[in-house]
Amino acid sequence: MDFLKYFENIMDFFRSPVWKYMIYGIIFILIVVWLSFVYWTYRDAKLRNTSAVFWAFIVFVLNYLGLIIYIIIRPPEYIEDIVERDLEIKRTEMLLSSAILRCPTCGKEIKDDFVICPNCRKKLKKPCVQCEKPLNLDWKVCPYCKSEQ
Ligand SMILES: [Zn+2]
Ligand SMILES: [Zn+2]
Repeated sequence: MDFLKYFENIMDFFRSPVWKYMIYGIIFILIVVWLSFVYWTYRDAKLRNTSAVFWAFIVFVLNYLGLIIYIIIRPPEYIEDIVERDLEIKRTEMLLSSAILRCPTCGKEIKDDFVICPNCRKKLKKPCVQCEKPLNLDWKVCPYCKSEQ
């Protein structure tokens, strides 16, 4: 008897409008999730510079399956990342090539204010007669203290 009553209660629940609205709610959520999959695929494919409309359509038709296929075969990088990385490499290269000075004789790395190459002893600069700042060998006057060389 108790079991029958219990069963009755369940059947009442399924007949009630609450159940109906729950079903509507679930269907609504599924549609929202589905459409957001399509939107996400469209945006992601566009960022990766691959055919966005085509992939959005595939996900629209196949849903989860389409999304999985897309994630497997999409290009691995965002197009902006590629451009950004290339720029970064160029910037670093420029920085390195401009920062490193080399001895004209032996090619070893030197600093801008070295008077002599520490490796081959080539005279690189001359100290100012007055203030002793390192000057280029061909300078006639010291740019720091104006004294004639
Ligand atoms: Zn040298
Ligand atoms: Zn000087």
